[in-house]
Amino acid sequence: MIYIHVPFCRSFCTYCGFYSEIAKDSLVSGWADAVKREALRRKDEITDNPSTLYIGGGTPSVLPLDIVADLLSTLAEAGHGGPFSEFTIEVNPEDVVEKGERYIQGLLALGVNRVSMGVQSFSDPLLRWMNRRHNSQRAVRAIGILRDAGVSNLSLDLIFGLSSLTAGTWRETVEKALSFRPEHISCYQLGIDEGSALCEMASKGLYREASDEDCRSQYDILCDTLAREGYRHYEISNFALPGHESIHNSAYWQRVPYVGLGPSAHSFDGKVRSWNTSEVPDYHTESECLSAREATEETIMLSLRTDKGADGAWLHDNCSTAVLDFLLREGCLQRTGDRIRIPEDRFFVSDDIIGQLI
Ligand code: SF4
Repeated sequence: MIYIHVPFCRSFCTYCGFYSEIAKDSLVSGWADAVKREALRRKDEITDNPSTLYIGGGTPSVLPLDIVADLLSTLAEAGHGGPFSEFTIEVNPEDVVEKGERYIQGLLALGVNRVSMGVQSFSDPLLRWMNRRHNSQRAVRAIGILRDAGVSNLSLDLIFGLSSLTAGTWRETVEKALSFRPEHISCYQLGIDEGSALCEMASKGLYREASDEDCRSQYDILCDTLAREGYRHYEISNFALPGHESIHNSAYWQRVPYVGLGPSAHSFDGKVRSWNTSEVPDYHTESECLSAREATEETIMLSLRTDKGADGAWLHDNCSTAVLDFLLREGCLQRTGDRIRIPEDRFFVSDDIIGQLI
């Protein structure tokens, strides 16, 4: 499982606290050389079960095709050239429209078999507020280009929980997204991330967070609408048509080891979590070894975010029986066979539930 982090964007979104740089050619080629060196250096750490590659960011669609091809050649040289059971690349709608169908076909020819696009909203005022580069019309065009190019596994990202988002506008966005029948939808609640423009606005009193009730009702609209359309709500923020659940992300939630390449990328070898620092191209790696208790807490946290939940007997061995019994009685947890999960109608308060268990 390999993740490659592309720390470049063409502009910065209001809510984003990620580290990224404006994509300049010299910086991009310096980054690519550093990632290739890292891939060769760490080739023995890479495992092929599952054999997935995820190119995320930032904005990977700023990369020219020859750089993607070059990275793949280096992975092949390192013994991990695919074909991958899942090879995802994240794209930006504006890049898709600007670069067109040939760029997307080029990506598919290189082995990409899943595309994840950050649409976020189909409301133009909200997209402007977010400082996204695209508007709703360009997003619709981008989806058309992806489908015409042959993308058959498409994931769309949406955001809810903005204080100016009304239930009606949110419903329209969800329904518009569904009209394209994407195989997958990821949906995140807006948070105030440190380092983001939004964080600064909030600290100056220029932004007030949406109320819990509004966020809850938007999440309910999302869950109800997607359930009606046949999507499986397989993780708190992720929905898929049956058979299109992300293999790569599902493996993260099962704590499968993976190698993250590039600045700001994280890795996990089954015991040690490590991360690359953010400097481009001269990043270095830092790490921490998880204690047995930290590893257990992580397993509880990650497994209970999914609709499969955790192994019931294991949970009993690792959590207070009194707390477990209480949460089961209150309907905050639910038994399904030998598993225990958070029922979908309590996903919204999963942090509280998990907090009581760990
Ligand atoms: S949200 Fe994505 S595209 Fe926007 S600034 Fe952050 S990394 Fe870049």
